[in-house]
Amino acid sequence: PGPGPGENEGVNVQVLLRCRPLSDKEIAERTPQVISCNEALRETTLYQNVFNCDSTQEKLYKTIVPIVQEVMDGFNCTIFAYGQTGTGKTYTMEGGPRRSDDGKSLSAEAGVIPRSIKQIFDTIEANNTDSTVKVTFLELYNEELTDLLSMDDVKDDSKRLRLLEDRSGVVAQGLDEVVVKSATEIYQVLDRGTAKRRTGETWLNKRSSRSHSVFSITIHMREVTPDGEDVVKVGKLNLVDLAGSENISRSGAKDGRAREAGSINQSLLTLGRVITALVEHSGHIPYRDSKLTRLLRESLGGKTKTCIIATIAPTVQCQEETISTLDYAHRAK
Ligand code: ADP
Ligand code: MG
Repeated sequence: PGPGPGENEGVNVQVLLRCRPLSDKEIAERTPQVISCNEALRETTLYQNVFNCDSTQEKLYKTIVPIVQEVMDGFNCTIFAYGQTGTGKTYTMEGGPRRSDDGKSLSAEAGVIPRSIKQIFDTIEANNTDSTVKVTFLELYNEELTDLLSMDDVKDDSKRLRLLEDRSGVVAQGLDEVVVKSATEIYQVLDRGTAKRRTGETWLNKRSSRSHSVFSITIHMREVTPDGEDVVKVGKLNLVDLAGSENISRSGAKDGRAREAGSINQSLLTLGRVITALVEHSGHIPYRDSKLTRLLRESLGGKTKTCIIATIAPTVQCQEETISTLDYAHRAK
C-alpha cells in the first residue's frame, strides 16, 4: 500500500508539502531560488508527499482524492492550507480560474475546493443516490466568527456568530446553511462568500492574511440496504484556508515579553497544539482553547481524516518562515 491517510498507526493526519514557484517579479529581480524539493526522495523519510515548484494542481489533488472518497463514505474530513502569506495557500485551495476555455470542465489552475466539489457531485451522479448537499462558509478573524453567506453587513458586530455547545457537539448559532443542487450552484455560493470576504478586506487592511476561512460541505446520502432498510450516511468536508503562519511565528517569537497585545493568532496556535496532542495520543486535547478548534472539533481526531498542506516559498528572504512552517508541519506528522 502506498502512503496515505492513516499511515501513522491510528493517527489520521496526513501532511503534504508544496513549494510555490518564483513569481514574475522575483524572476525579474533575479531572486535566487534556494529551496528545491526532491519529490521522489523525501517521501518516506520526511513527508508523505512533497510537491515541487512545478507541480500541477491536478497532481496535488491526486493525494486529496482518497480523502474526499472518505467523505462520500460518511466520514468527516478536514483539509488545511498552512503557511506564510504569499506561499500559495489560496492558490492551493481555490486556484486560478475554475473553468477551462470550453466552459464545462475545470481548468488546469482550479484548486482543491473546485476539484473536490466536482468529485462530490460526480460521485453522487455515478451512484445515483438520493443526496442533499449543504454548505456553510465562515470567516474567523480575531477570534470572531462572521457568516460569509448571510446577507448581513460584515462590519455589523451584532451579527457575529456565537458558538454554542449542546449534546451533539458545537454549533455556530444562526449560521446559514445553503442547500445546493449542483456544482454550478455551489460555485455561485462560494463566489458570494468570497466577494463578501473581500469587502471586509478593504475595511481592515491585511485582514485576509490574519483571518481563517472555513468552507464546509455536508452530504446526506440516503441508501437502501439489500434487506430494504433505509439508512442515511452523512459526510462532511471542511476546507480551511488558514491565516498566514507569520502571525504566530513572529509574535510567538524570541522575546515573549515583546508580544504585542492581540498579535497572536490564538486559533492558529491552538490548532498546532491540538494536532500535536492528537498525534502524540495525549490524554488532553485542548480543543476548547480557540474558536477554530471548537468549530472543527467533530472533524479533528477520532475516526476523521485530517490533511495539512504546508506551503512554502523558494526564496532566501522567506527562509526563516519556511523553517518555522516545516517545523509546524513536522510536529503534525
Ligand atoms: P497565500 O494565500 O498563501 O497568501 P497566494 O495563494 O495568494 O498565497 O499565492 C501568492 C501568489 O503566488 C499568487 O499570485 C499565486 O497565484 C502564486 N502562486 C502560489 N502558488 C503557486 C503555484 N504552485 N503555482 C503557480 N503560482 C502560484
Ligand atoms: Mg491567501
